[in-house]
Amino acid sequence: MRDFLHQCLYGKIAKVKIFQGGSNRVDHRNINRRTFLKLSTAIAATTALPFVPGCTPARQEADRTVDVAIIGAGLAGLTAARQLVAQGIESVLVIEAQDYVGGRLRDVQVNDTTIIEAGGQFIGPPQTRILELAAELGVETYRIFEEGDAVYHLDGDTTRFPPYDFAVFGEYDRIRLMLDGMAQTVPLGAPWNAPDAEMLDNMSFGDFLDANLSDPIARDLFDIISFSILNAFPPDLSLLYVLFFIHSCVDINTLVATEGGAQDSRFLGGAQLVPIRMAAELGEERVLLQSPVRSIHHDDTSIQIVSDRAVVDAQYAIVAMMPSIIRNITFEPSLPDQRQGLIENWPISGDFKVNVVYETPFWREQGFSGFIGQSDRVAASFGYDNSPPDADVGIFVTWPNIGADPSLADPDNRREAVLNSIAAYFGDQALDPIDYLEHDWTDNEWIPACVSPVGEGLLTQYGPALLQPVGRIHWAGTETSPIWNGYMEGAVRSGDRVAEEVAALILANR
Ligand SMILES: Cc1cc2nc3c(=O)[nH]c(=O)nc-3n(C[C@H](O)[C@H](O)[C@H](O)COP(=O)(O)OP(=O)(O)OC[C@H]3O[C@@H](n4cnc5c(N)ncnc54)[C@H](O)[C@@H]3O)c2cc1C
Repeated sequence: MRDFLHQCLYGKIAKVKIFQGGSNRVDHRNINRRTFLKLSTAIAATTALPFVPGCTPARQEADRTVDVAIIGAGLAGLTAARQLVAQGIESVLVIEAQDYVGGRLRDVQVNDTTIIEAGGQFIGPPQTRILELAAELGVETYRIFEEGDAVYHLDGDTTRFPPYDFAVFGEYDRIRLMLDGMAQTVPLGAPWNAPDAEMLDNMSFGDFLDANLSDPIARDLFDIISFSILNAFPPDLSLLYVLFFIHSCVDINTLVATEGGAQDSRFLGGAQLVPIRMAAELGEERVLLQSPVRSIHHDDTSIQIVSDRAVVDAQYAIVAMMPSIIRNITFEPSLPDQRQGLIENWPISGDFKVNVVYETPFWREQGFSGFIGQSDRVAASFGYDNSPPDADVGIFVTWPNIGADPSLADPDNRREAVLNSIAAYFGDQALDPIDYLEHDWTDNEWIPACVSPVGEGLLTQYGPALLQPVGRIHWAGTETSPIWNGYMEGAVRSGDRVAEEVAALILANR
């Protein structure tokens, strides 16, 4: 068990484990790593080909048979597995492509006592399911630091303002209230059924702002909010999607706020602790790492999942990942047109996250909270004090906007621009960090996206397929959640929902 926990956390495997025969028995064999990688690559090369009718290999003899196979060991997949087991459906297997659990939750050790999160990190009081789950798993939370002034930086001038006093942002509040009101008309379970859905979906958020807002400062703030939350600027986002997203997360204030909002708190020990503890609870026999699923064969009676390290027969499959990544899996027979269209057209958007580590959170001594509310320095146009609760070190977190300045694509330029920006806000001490940790999610083959900047037309054309099971294949992942869509909360809720769906089908036939 200790090896397994170590593997979940650090993503290293000491031994390759393969499943044998039709039983649930795990056989540990030492396979030469080079042979294993050659085999995996060969399988990947054949099965990653686009589906051509008649060319997909027929079903094979399975290594293992389970009631439910879950693809993806992110929060959604692990929650689904945990809920199924809790309902007495103990024969489940979570199959994960990567060598760690948590997916978009990934912690990085800064020193002996401090971690930072390369992926998801913030949680807040309205996100009740993730908080409840964390409490059950013994993962504690703490409030982020926010005493002191926030910063607004434009044309070289730094202005201090009390956190979330948006009075300085001109027309911002008028448009915020207008958007909040419109968002309430979008049904959470089916945004494509909103009144005027087609019209709203064929208009970009940028078109809406252009038509309703002339104040450049307020517009700039909406651009930054849009980039910080959806990793895209208003012209690239469907207005219907933005309204759905706002409604899904209560309202704009809740989305952007620290205290009481989405950035209220963090997990002590890191957000990845939640999936790690779920995997530990499920046990080694129910989680198979480093085994990308390449194809899913399905018919009226059963499912077969072909992954690099096991062929698994199951009664039901749950695919728990971002829709765009599902395009790496070949389905036999192929998926209905609307579902296929959803997968092919769902956006992929990478993300850079930078944590700069200092001896101390020196900005606090100058009365700054560390929160950058808005800045025209695109290397760090917003950011937070991300220090641990004991402030053992000072950490500032930010997200460079490479789209707005292509020179930031160069790592040296990026680092220099990030440090210069922090120095512009808090002084030259910012130029001497003790560590600079950056995570490039575009590098990750299995998670090349953090959020879903859904563009015009997608929701009304393909949205209804998001939740619709295809025979025995069911869908989960934060992108399927009507509540806190895109967040950890949405992932957990989608795991709850899909487990209930599949458990009802299995229990009805027992
Ligand atoms: C940089 C960043 C910052 C974020 N900040 C926050 C935040 O502050 N607060 C918040 O609530 N949320 C945040 N999020 C979002 C949050 O992390 C996600 O909503 C949540 O973790 C999604 O969980 P999931 O299970 O739906 O998907 P994922 O975590 O993406 O899990 C899907 C899993 O499927 C696996 N997989 C993919 N393809 C295959 C295959 N073919 N075979 C087998 N396995 C496969 C992947 O490796 C992955 O482990 C952030 C995300 C990122 C990346």
